Amino acid sequence: MPLIGLDSVELAALFPDRKDAKMRGKQLAHHIYTRAETDFNNMQDLPKDFREVLAENYKISPLEIATHRKSVDGVEKLLVHNGDNQVYECVLLPYKDRVSCCISSQVGCPMGCTFCATGLGGFDRNLTAGEIVGQYLLLQSLTERRISHVVFMGMGEPLLNLKNLIKALKFLHEDIGLSYRHLTVSTVGLVPQIKELAKERLPIHLALSLHSPFDEVRDRLMPVNQKWPVREVVRAMRDYQTTTSRKVTFEYLLIKDVTDTPEQAKALIPLLKGMPNVINLIPFNWVDTGNGFARPDRDRVRHFRRILEQAGMNVTERTERGHDIAAACGQLAGQHQGKFARRDSSAQLPQRS
Ligand code: SAH
Ligand code: SF4
Repeated sequence: MPLIGLDSVELAALFPDRKDAKMRGKQLAHHIYTRAETDFNNMQDLPKDFREVLAENYKISPLEIATHRKSVDGVEKLLVHNGDNQVYECVLLPYKDRVSCCISSQVGCPMGCTFCATGLGGFDRNLTAGEIVGQYLLLQSLTERRISHVVFMGMGEPLLNLKNLIKALKFLHEDIGLSYRHLTVSTVGLVPQIKELAKERLPIHLALSLHSPFDEVRDRLMPVNQKWPVREVVRAMRDYQTTTSRKVTFEYLLIKDVTDTPEQAKALIPLLKGMPNVINLIPFNWVDTGNGFARPDRDRVRHFRRILEQAGMNVTERTERGHDIAAACGQLAGQHQGKFARRDSSAQLPQRS
């Protein structure tokens, strides 16, 4: 039985016969979460016989590594599983001033976005809080530097797995010690769940994958738009910002001749008016979608960016990293299909509530 995902009280409850269970629970939690320890033997403040009991009956993490790739730019990508054929991805992203990581919330994704390798591969299941936090701890064990930032931009739609997501966010903050402000959740735009998350009032950072101000374009790219169209989802983000006092941001995917037109740049200005937020431009990472989607050239990206900046918007651009190891969302799992079975790709959208 894996211990990651249990808090100190739940860990203590595993040993009802021990008088010192409460203290041992706290020590275990400290080793597992704060120190990212992967071996019971290294938990030197625990009695030897207790360590032996632990090693015999438990494992720390449910995660096993299927593939480990290192990029020339320092990015490392892991494809992990729990001993079955359901693989999910996480990525270590070292920068000069900080180390960040990108983790998954589901195995696959049911949202069916037509530009996304994960979406095209179908859906298996939600990840547990332990499996979500396990990805962070596994990546932390690869580096001496402290991973201070986490983005939920790996496989899956985090807000479809809200209960486990919230539990994992609390672990990352309360047990591992990360600032809520350094935890970013990216969503495709599920309005009821955005409202639900707002009620928790966690000071995390929420990002919306907007990708077009036009319903007719967004409808084609993201089936979710047919349930919650652009205006409705942007309103939900405004409300989220008001309720939580946290600034939200917008991700904008640039696909050549589909989302990168000057008309769409101009239409973003009134749509996001009054929200002094960052819009993050993401040039399309090539995936064989069967739709002929391509990455726009530099001039086109620059022009799009200039229109927004001239209107006073705060624009950033995602620099592509780990290209040589297919570090983008869903790509490595896609390449792994020779070894593990392909998922059923009949995407099921959640029902509107
Ligand atoms: N499901 C969530 C989070 C995971 S996807 C969401 O959709 O927001 C993380 C980000 O990667 C999203 O902004 C998504 O639109 C983007 N993405 C997916 N496929 C991509 C591709 N081929 N190129 C560039 N970005 C992509
Ligand atoms: Fe799912 Fe996000 Fe990919 Fe859409 S972009 S299919 S929501 S992982």
